[in-house]
Amino acid sequence: MKIETIAVHGGNVVTDLLKPVIQPITLSTTFEHQEGTMLYTRLENPNRKSLETVLSSLEGGADAAAFSSGNAAGNAVFQALPAGSHIIAPDDMYHGMKMLLKTVYAGKIEVDFIDLTQPEKVKEVIKPNTKLLWIETPSNPLLKISDIKSLASIAKKHQLIVACDSTFATPIFQQGLALGADIVMHSSTKYISGHSDILGGILITKEKNAFWESIKNIQKLAGAVPSPMDCYLLTRSIKTLPYRMRAHSSNAKEIAEFLNGKEEVEKVFYPGLPSHEGFETAKNQMSDFGAMLSFLIEGNADDADRLIGKLKYFSDATSLGGVESLIERRSKVQGNDASIPDQLIRMSVGIENCEDLIADLDQAFNATF
Ligand SMILES: *Cc1c(COP(=O)(O)O)cnc(C)c1O
Repeated sequence: MKIETIAVHGGNVVTDLLKPVIQPITLSTTFEHQEGTMLYTRLENPNRKSLETVLSSLEGGADAAAFSSGNAAGNAVFQALPAGSHIIAPDDMYHGMKMLLKTVYAGKIEVDFIDLTQPEKVKEVIKPNTKLLWIETPSNPLLKISDIKSLASIAKKHQLIVACDSTFATPIFQQGLALGADIVMHSSTKYISGHSDILGGILITKEKNAFWESIKNIQKLAGAVPSPMDCYLLTRSIKTLPYRMRAHSSNAKEIAEFLNGKEEVEKVFYPGLPSHEGFETAKNQMSDFGAMLSFLIEGNADDADRLIGKLKYFSDATSLGGVESLIERRSKVQGNDASIPDQLIRMSVGIENCEDLIADLDQAFNATF
């Protein structure tokens, strides 16, 4: 099956006597003791099974585990490591995940945050207790591209587990497991949900090995699992994911080029622009470039805020991946991070008509500068 077919049919795993065409919603927390049924919804539920099955096939994995948020999914990976482990993670790791490692895991797990766009740097920080290489590509908010294949081949020589946060790429544009990752993670709050109304996270594994069993154990016993209703809605959203991603990406490409041509814009960070540092790598490992971008204006934070304030179709809000376009001055969220210039604007390009989006940006630029 090709991705569009998997997206539509891959989540229909449990049928009943009435033969519904879609997977029914099973809200029941418990099931009658019987051979072949489920036991209790924290452990398993038909809608969670449905969501895990479709995502596992989209990523070409052996199994998947759904969580109540992207951070809960990442947390399960860190928690499955032996106490005192060392992790290598990107210096521009998603802010919330970096904070999780820096605060909750302080004193429990050691982390080196390094620039993963330079795979050779990984070798320099590997120690006897290094267990995990955490990749995130494209990264947030500067859209840095890390070469999954090169990183994984270095990591494998040192028996490291390789996990890749593919949230910005989605299962449609990047197949992390085929490129060498052991585990792929997504915040399904973003494109997988696609409508800014569900929080969720997912892990997909290449192999059902002992490390995966301990992650499944954490999912079931720590219990940060999504509700059957959320699983149902995510499975429903996935049916249109391939088509939404095409629209997102095509709009983003046009907007990146529009911004690139504006004299009030100093720099555009979008991996689909040939001028982007990661363009070649992105072209090799992704089938398209996604719909997240950021840019620096010729001006200060106040100018950036004024520009954002003039927009009609872009909501000034954090998060990403919904059908509606969002924009924010990133340091409002990530203010304590020296690598984020004050005037950096991050944009999640939606699937509105692109001419409307560009006209909106154009009038906002004219009114600001
Ligand atoms: C949003 C996000 C997360 C965290 O996911 P939540 O669902 O908010 O917990 C992790 N990684 C990336 C790249 C994200 O964009």
